[in-house]
Amino acid sequence: MNMKYFGTNGIRGIIGDLITPEFISKMSSAIASMLKNKGTVIIGTDSRLSSPFIKNNVISSFLASGIEVIDLGVVPTPLVQFAVKHLQTNMGIVVTASHNPPQFNGLKIIDDDGIEIDIRKQLKVEEIFEKEQFTFAPWDENGSVTKMDLKQEYINQIIQLVNIDNIQKKKMSVVVDTGNGAGSVITPELLRQLGVRVITVNGNLDGRFPGRGSEPNPERLTEMSKITLQSKCNFSVAHDGDADRAIFGDEKGTIFFGDKSIALFEKWFMSNHENKQFVTPVSSSSAVVDIADAIGGKVIWTPVGCIFVSREMISRNSLLGGEENGGLFYGLHQSVRDGAMAAALMANILAETEKTFSDLVLELPEYFQKKNKLSCPNELKKRAMDHIVATVPENVEIISMDGVKLIYDEGWVLIRPSGTEPIFRVFAEAKTEKNASDIMTKGMRLVQDALQRLS
Ligand code: MG
Repeated sequence: MNMKYFGTNGIRGIIGDLITPEFISKMSSAIASMLKNKGTVIIGTDSRLSSPFIKNNVISSFLASGIEVIDLGVVPTPLVQFAVKHLQTNMGIVVTASHNPPQFNGLKIIDDDGIEIDIRKQLKVEEIFEKEQFTFAPWDENGSVTKMDLKQEYINQIIQLVNIDNIQKKKMSVVVDTGNGAGSVITPELLRQLGVRVITVNGNLDGRFPGRGSEPNPERLTEMSKITLQSKCNFSVAHDGDADRAIFGDEKGTIFFGDKSIALFEKWFMSNHENKQFVTPVSSSSAVVDIADAIGGKVIWTPVGCIFVSREMISRNSLLGGEENGGLFYGLHQSVRDGAMAAALMANILAETEKTFSDLVLELPEYFQKKNKLSCPNELKKRAMDHIVATVPENVEIISMDGVKLIYDEGWVLIRPSGTEPIFRVFAEAKTEKNASDIMTKGMRLVQDALQRLS
């Protein structure tokens, strides 16, 4: 079931390489043909320099196929997802390459339930594309374009899900680093409407991402961190290029990977709601299990990838999901990652407590993580994986939902073939640094043995 163009989240490539006017036009016609040339599609873009040419190309293809188009302009991906459900349209298209560097761009394709289309539909689009089975509308049945601004409707929905009185009373200050991406048009405004004093960093739209790049890596968020301390802010938040992810920092300027923030959200949610389920990929820290166990909740594992988390939340009726890359899925809003929702919810959590952000992080279970990778040609991955599974000692528990996760008494190691690169990724986690290193060594040895056997 290998796909040629769809990756873990839509189609992405470099301008002039994969992403050309011809490619976009044919891909959009394939999508329109899958929709049987009927209905309404919403389109939004991130701030990339190539987004206008791609957007106009997508619109042109849809119109030629007889589909109505609603153009939202430059907006975060989750706003397009919100709009698809809000206006009950057939589909949404986001022109974005998310956190990739500025020379990339791509398409995220949103189904009528607001979630990225599933693998079955991705395969269908690719099949139509490959066979060039495009269908177009007769000359007198072309679609039309309507421009719309749904920013305030989207902000209103988020505001309704937090306690605005509490947040206003707390008189918080927050640093927001939108990285020159699409989040610039929402998160600062949203927090201001919640009564928060906002200081923005890289808050102007700029498709070159000159500030700190489009990926919110903690080591690149130094300016946000410095300003948090200087201006005595309560916390800081940074988004990726299309603002579906949120990375947080505390009042001391320490920036955390997403594993800390999703654990905070999980703990708060399970303590305040009847529905005590938390949906997360198998790569997430065991901290989420400790938290669930302490509150009487349940962690539901999925393969790595936001589409799996969203679809599992829907099928299990779960209201919360999280990813260690900073993806928060708040089902009361929508079952997809949403960076602005995450920022508002964090303000809500801090407004309810006398504790600081760093206090809350200190209360979380502590684990040590190790990450590593090993080269492996794509064609050998499947056989290497089979070999690894066959050589795991009998007393070790295995979860083989996505790669293999081996659970030892001291911790776990996850071995996954990358979906996009010719490598195996190896993650290890344990309660002590030494145990994490030891487990990493065991995991790496299993992969090395398998690769040696096959070479
Ligand atoms: Mg993104």
